[in-house]
Amino acid sequence: MQDALLAEFAARHGRAPQGLVRAPGRVNLIGEHTDYSEGFVLPMAIERGVWIAFAPLDRPAVELHSGTLGAEGRLDLTRLDEPPGGWLEYLRGVAGVLAAHGHLLTGWQGAVASDLPVGSGLSSSAAFELALAHVFLALEGSRLDPAALALLAQEAENRWVGVQCGIMDQLACSAGRQGSALLIDCRSLDLRPVPIPAEAVVAILDTGTRRSLHGSAYNERRAQCEAGARHFGHAVLRDVTSEEFDRRAGELDPVVRRRCRHVLAENARTLEAADALEAGDLARVGALMVQSHASLRDDFEVASPALDAMVEAALATDGCFGARMTGAGFGGCAVALVRRDAADGFCACVAERYRRATAHEPAVFVSAPAAGARVLFHESPDGGGLRLR
Ligand code: ADP
Ligand code: MG
Repeated sequence: MQDALLAEFAARHGRAPQGLVRAPGRVNLIGEHTDYSEGFVLPMAIERGVWIAFAPLDRPAVELHSGTLGAEGRLDLTRLDEPPGGWLEYLRGVAGVLAAHGHLLTGWQGAVASDLPVGSGLSSSAAFELALAHVFLALEGSRLDPAALALLAQEAENRWVGVQCGIMDQLACSAGRQGSALLIDCRSLDLRPVPIPAEAVVAILDTGTRRSLHGSAYNERRAQCEAGARHFGHAVLRDVTSEEFDRRAGELDPVVRRRCRHVLAENARTLEAADALEAGDLARVGALMVQSHASLRDDFEVASPALDAMVEAALATDGCFGARMTGAGFGGCAVALVRRDAADGFCACVAERYRRATAHEPAVFVSAPAAGARVLFHESPDGGGLRLR
């Protein structure tokens, strides 16, 4: 992927790229739809991601080609108030946020490649945002820590793209650690690396379906959680205790009540799952994942028939500790925790079971927890030589 991208950049622009950045996608093991209530999540960065090869331009514009989308676009950095639409909104968003935070934007041309499925809940959007931010910062000659970068990327998606996502996607992609999932407190942004025990692997189960509702249903869920929190006199559901909930849940609109019940229970499950994973109690982690899926299906109502069928196929297959939908939902991917020595047979068998149960073509693959977004190389022209980070 990397060599092909470097060659493609050279063929397209008649010069070698000056730098290359990479940002991973992420899969969330548990803690779904809790981040925007300042709760807990347990994601990991994965081995698939987005690459951008780049070189500076002497004019204030970004010229970008995405091999993933087969599309080309241009953004005038002096006209950030003009929405370019589509995928270039992410570019405008990242540029706009960096400019608003006082960064100096340089023009550049770039080529994008990715082995992350788009719109499948593995956060190709966060990976793309972080890769873009790394290019701008590398050209400016500045660095930010992973949490600060994640906040900028989230702001780009919230304010400019218009999806009110929480911090999980950007922080997992930005701060990923090889070998570990990350327990994230979405209020303090504290991270606790939780190693995946050697006897287990994480399998990603793409249903081959893509969500149709995009941001609207997501923003609606978020508004329902905020309404629920307000009912209990809090700004976010993180602060509602189970005692408060039990006492006054009956006064709530039934839909909002179910949304709140999911978030409160999911936060407790996520903390317990992190401890169980650390203690090597894979059966317990698996059981919590199964509970999480049921709660997302019945209370939060963000699953889909395809996601349910995939989880069922995984749970019926030898070696599976547990499985659930992952990401915002309505389609996309499920995730399973699987016995390492059963992983190959598991992937083949789940795919076959799912194919038989639905009309969709799945993709099933294993990923180890990977490192976060980074500059792979940047050949700085002002005497810096080849900088490897
Ligand atoms: P997810 O983050 O789950 O993959 P989103 O709908 O949040 O799904 O983000 C997908 C969008 O991100 C794409 O429609 C596109 O606009 C942008 N995107 C992601 N990867 C790339 C890429 N490699 N090239 C161009 N745009 C991309
Ligand atoms: Mg996204």
